[in-house]
Amino acid sequence: MQTTSIHNQVVGEIERLSGRRFKWLTLPAPLEERFERDTAQKRVMRLWHEGLIGIILFDLFALADYGIGGNHSWMAIFLRLGVVTPLALIVNASLRRKPSKAYREGSIGFIICLVGLLHLYLGSDQGVASTAYAQVGVIVAILFANVVMRLRLPYAVATSVILLAGDMVFLQTDRFLSDPEKTMGLMLTVCAVMITLIANYSIGREERFGYLILLRHEMQREELAYVNAELHRISSRDNLTGLANRHSFEAHCATLWQQTMAAGAPLSAILIDIDKFKAVNDLRGHLYGDKVLARVASLVQQSLRGKDDFAARFGGEEFVVLLPDVTEQGALIVAERIRKMVEVAGAPAIENPLMGPIMATTVSCGVATCLPSEDDCIESLLEASDKAMYAAKRAGRNRVCSGLVAPSKSAAPRTEPSERIHAQGELSRPRIVQKVVLP
Ligand code: GH3
Ligand code: MG
Ligand code: MG
Repeated sequence: MQTTSIHNQVVGEIERLSGRRFKWLTLPAPLEERFERDTAQKRVMRLWHEGLIGIILFDLFALADYGIGGNHSWMAIFLRLGVVTPLALIVNASLRRKPSKAYREGSIGFIICLVGLLHLYLGSDQGVASTAYAQVGVIVAILFANVVMRLRLPYAVATSVILLAGDMVFLQTDRFLSDPEKTMGLMLTVCAVMITLIANYSIGREERFGYLILLRHEMQREELAYVNAELHRISSRDNLTGLANRHSFEAHCATLWQQTMAAGAPLSAILIDIDKFKAVNDLRGHLYGDKVLARVASLVQQSLRGKDDFAARFGGEEFVVLLPDVTEQGALIVAERIRKMVEVAGAPAIENPLMGPIMATTVSCGVATCLPSEDDCIESLLEASDKAMYAAKRAGRNRVCSGLVAPSKSAAPRTEPSERIHAQGELSRPRIVQKVVLP
């Protein structure tokens, strides 16, 4: 909900800023905060670098001051190197400590004002040339604030106004220039202020516009990733029971087989089939049958304890459980837990008790275990558990049976004939584990 409203705001602001007319740059509060948060770090680093260059250039003028000579020049050097430079360095260093926006923009504006006003002060009362240079000094300071440092617009405006006011006072008190020359000087400063503020506005607008476009891309990417994940979730789940469906079971099988083979660990499978389920459907209807399926699926899931145990709907009323790193004995215990839980809680309540006789829900489980290897495949494990499940059916249902995995064809030549006969014999006579007692 909140994401949607931010997304709408981003789209709205992109539209607003892409228009031709003048538009205020400030974005709606949450977007403005986000813009500040996302851009602050990069901005601080840029201001720090460019600030350092500015300080070096400012200090180079000490050479010119020295060249002029005299008391005034020593005072200029002292004010330049002893007062303004240390202050500027302190502000510059503090930028790296991620200050607030007001401090960051305000302190830079303050130092630039100091530099501009210092030039006016040093140029006052010294002659025509000094007066003219002082004016140029102010214009350079305005350029530096609005175009190089690109202070945020309100701070750029404030800095420009202070410097312009200083220039007006300076020209007012100057006694070397004629009135038309003063007007010319003032007009130059006003022009510099106007032009650089327009540039500052344009750059700020472009920056925000570019940021919003990127943000929209980012949001679309996130949305796409979410929709993809949701699609994947929906396509990998069985609608009715919420368990993994056959498709994702097969994908998981391959991974699990490789993992257990790499770890040299056993892999067990349990095949679970609901007993006489057709009769349940016939007597209670398919909707009730669906409830039974969902209940049994939930009980199967609840019976699993291991973090890697995996349950899926295998077919109509059949479920399969894969237990990595679980021996046959462990798998029999899990299967028995499932059987017991279904026996106790597998039948959902019926709305109308007069609907017919009580029908308990039970399941028959077939268990098989193998040690995955390159020569084998998971199909033989599933086949063995399937055969064991049918053995449980034949033995009377509502019970757990285990079977042996037949050696694969590729592995067969390596086994001795006598061993193979033994293995086949074992498989055709699955061991019947009737209601294994839980420890
Ligand atoms: P057995 O004990 O031998 O397994 O008997 P059974 O009746 O459970 O086996 P059978 O294979 O004869 O019947 C399975 C039934 O499961 C038939 C089919 O209608 C039902 N079934 C399969 N999928 C669904 C489903 O999604 N919902 C419902 N309600 N029934 C289903
Ligand atoms: Mg079946
Ligand atoms: Mg069945």
